[in-house]
Amino acid sequence: MQPFEQLGLIGCGLMGGSFALALKQAGLVKRVVGYSKSPSTTERARQMGVIDVEAPSALLAAAGADLVLLAVPVAATEATLKSIKHLVTPGMMIMDVGSTKVDVVHAARSALRDQLGSFVPAHPIAGKEVSGVEHSDPQLYKGAQVILTPTERTLTEHLQKAQSLWELLGCRVRAMSPEAHDSAFATVSHLPHLLAFAMMQSVITQPDSDEVLSLAGPGFRDFTRIAAGDPKMWRDVLLANSEQVLAQSRQFQQALQQLECLIQAGDGQGLEDHLTLASAARAHWRMGVPRR
Ligand code: NAP
Repeated sequence: MQPFEQLGLIGCGLMGGSFALALKQAGLVKRVVGYSKSPSTTERARQMGVIDVEAPSALLAAAGADLVLLAVPVAATEATLKSIKHLVTPGMMIMDVGSTKVDVVHAARSALRDQLGSFVPAHPIAGKEVSGVEHSDPQLYKGAQVILTPTERTLTEHLQKAQSLWELLGCRVRAMSPEAHDSAFATVSHLPHLLAFAMMQSVITQPDSDEVLSLAGPGFRDFTRIAAGDPKMWRDVLLANSEQVLAQSRQFQQALQQLECLIQAGDGQGLEDHLTLASAARAHWRMGVPRR
């Protein structure tokens, strides 16, 4: 693949910064022009070598770019795309990295209209609990899955280019509809985050929680690791995918109630049967590998 002449990076945080560094390390881009909401973030990104040039607006970051990456909170997608819309050309490829896709595609339809063909919605299944450009890591995407949810107007040429680009960064790429994406990720990402946040909330609102927390071991650490995620980012994701998240939450409550009933009834065999099924499913699960 020929290197891109210029990446316009809008949102120089963890995901955007890591993408720029990965592209640079792979020799896939000649120049990165970046913009973030706070000038101090953009400046820090330049000092760190994540971007080469600071832009004072999203529009100026996108000007002259053949690749634009939106790595902003999903709630900022529509306004950001609107602000660059009038210089989008069919030759410019625009991608995002948002954790939800139905709202992002809806925002892109409304903001880009006849330029929608340039947009390739993407969600790399990679990340960290910490946010911000200082945590950017050129290896973040290596070995990750990337889900592309092309719109009916996404140009085939851009879709193929996006796939090759992510593959060159060491990713495995899958395409699906935005609806299928949001339904699946409500189950395997959004609900688990909600539960981890709820778990922490439940513990810290109890008396002596500090003392109790000091006793916790690796099980608690592993179960709650993702509760340290960025509250603003997760607020946006949970609200953007609220219908699917609430449906999964109801499903989860049923499973929990079933286990509670078995405990209440002292039904050891029933309880063991349920735990055995869950334990076997978890033992056979491998990240990114289909079951059976
Ligand atoms: P982050 O580290 O907080 O970075 C977000 C960046 O966007 C910050 O630099 C912020 O600027 C900037 N920003 C916010 N609003 C903006 C706007 N209106 N215009 C321009 N820049 C704006 O967050 P992140 O983890 O990289 O998340 C970015 C996206 O990746 C989100 O959509 C998220 O859903 C998705 N994602 C995250 C993960 C993860 O694990 N973190 C995984 C997959 C996908 P300031 O510094 O000035 O606030």
